Amino acid sequence: MSISLLQGSFIIAGLLFILALAGLSKHETSKRGNVLGAIGMGLALLFTILGTVLGTGGRYGGAAPSWAIVAILMAMLVGGAFGVFKALKVEMTGMPELIALFHSFVGLTAVLVGWNSYLEPGHTDKLHYGELFVGIFIGAVTFTGSIIAYLKLSGKMKSAPLSLPHHNLLNLGCLVAFVGLTVWFVLLDPKYHFGGDGAPIGLILMAALTLVSLALGLHLVASIGGGDMPVVVSMLNSYSGWAAAAAGFTLDNDLLIITGALVGSSGAYLSFIMCKAMNRSFISVIAGGFGSDGAVVGQAQDLGEHRETTAVEVADLLKNASSVIITPGYGMAVAQAQGPVADLTSKLRAAGVEVRFGIHPVAGRLPGHMNVLLAEAKVPYDIVLEMDEINDDFESTDVVLVIGANDTVNPAALDDPSSPIAGMPVLEVWKANAVVVFKRSMNTGYAGVQNPLFFKDNTVMLFGDAKDRVEDIIKAL
Ligand code: NDP
Repeated sequence: MSISLLQGSFIIAGLLFILALAGLSKHETSKRGNVLGAIGMGLALLFTILGTVLGTGGRYGGAAPSWAIVAILMAMLVGGAFGVFKALKVEMTGMPELIALFHSFVGLTAVLVGWNSYLEPGHTDKLHYGELFVGIFIGAVTFTGSIIAYLKLSGKMKSAPLSLPHHNLLNLGCLVAFVGLTVWFVLLDPKYHFGGDGAPIGLILMAALTLVSLALGLHLVASIGGGDMPVVVSMLNSYSGWAAAAAGFTLDNDLLIITGALVGSSGAYLSFIMCKAMNRSFISVIAGGFGSDGAVVGQAQDLGEHRETTAVEVADLLKNASSVIITPGYGMAVAQAQGPVADLTSKLRAAGVEVRFGIHPVAGRLPGHMNVLLAEAKVPYDIVLEMDEINDDFESTDVVLVIGANDTVNPAALDDPSSPIAGMPVLEVWKANAVVVFKRSMNTGYAGVQNPLFFKDNTVMLFGDAKDRVEDIIKAL
């Protein structure tokens, strides 16, 4: 295959990825963005494989040997089958941890590519050694960081932050070790590198760097508290992009460099936006351990008595309301209540009630989680508003329905400086005339902190699965 055909296909794939990102930035165009991204990835995969099999794009000089082709096909079969199986099986609520798991694969791949490239004969220039170390470093941090994020998001590990003494110094120590090991590795006499006749110092440095980076990734993410996990997820997304770009340099694959850089920079920007929305310092979060200043999570406090209500009472409340705001949270995703919520919305709007949605930037377990669910249930986009757009309107609202949200409507974030979520802007739902909270119990939300909203005079609790309760209200209307 000619090199210009290969490069042409890579340019088209790169353009499709840019159009995909542009499409994904708005509800209306997000489906198209997804399709363009999938076509770009299909094209990239096809031409990378064809280039390897037929020559040109491969790393064997000419066409790949038949064992390598069989190995590629086997890897595609296993990876493809795993991907299809996971995509068919995953619930919407399981998406965040699945994404974290996928990020870990990218990180692991970058580490393996780096090691393979070192052990393969023929690469001896210092620039290549530098690239290898950077790739392994980013890959290993992404790998263990994403595994910890996966465990925290899937509830297999406590979301509370790990608070080792001098944790910032530990992180800094790892960074200094990375720089020191890289300089040593790059300047090492060739005879000490793999394949040379001296002591295998190069291999020892590689192993040391891999271990230091694995430990750093683990510590960075383990130190981050529950409420800050959304930023970590988008940050790991960004790291996985840079890991892929580093692997692209090692493999001399331009498309991997472009794609990795696109994912890396868009993920970094998303992390920045989320930090701004949550009133967190970007540097503190990427340095690990923000929000872990020893705050006690889930500590019992006496906040008074809560009041319970019934679906029939809520239906009456809604019949007499002229303005309603719905603030959905992770519980709506768990209950899969978005369909009934959309039906309730249509019914109320048909009766002349003004209904709008207030979406917190970190509601759910994935950036944009609530928007995706509401779009799936065909809620009109123009009544779905961001937190900043709606926060001033609660005061003049008759009823707020808090459907499976907890941390994102917790007034302690504003009132209690010792709270682990202190400083995070929240939906100020308690300012409305009446607030109905849909949840199954008095349990805490993701950050593990109690919510004084549930004990306010104008709040009533409607216990049970959110989908069932919304359906009960529709019946009672
Ligand atoms: P929370 O996780 O704070 O609370 C969800 C609430 O939903 C729980 O209190 C739970 O109460 C209730 N719930 C669960 N299942 C049901 C059900 N079937 N029916 C009714 N209620 C249910 O959700 P928020 O969306 O308010 O906040 C998101 C949290 O997740 C934030 O802390 C955020 O930092 C974090 N996070 C967000 C990410 C993102 O990217 N958006 C990523 C990672 C973490 P009960 O058990 O009593 O029913």
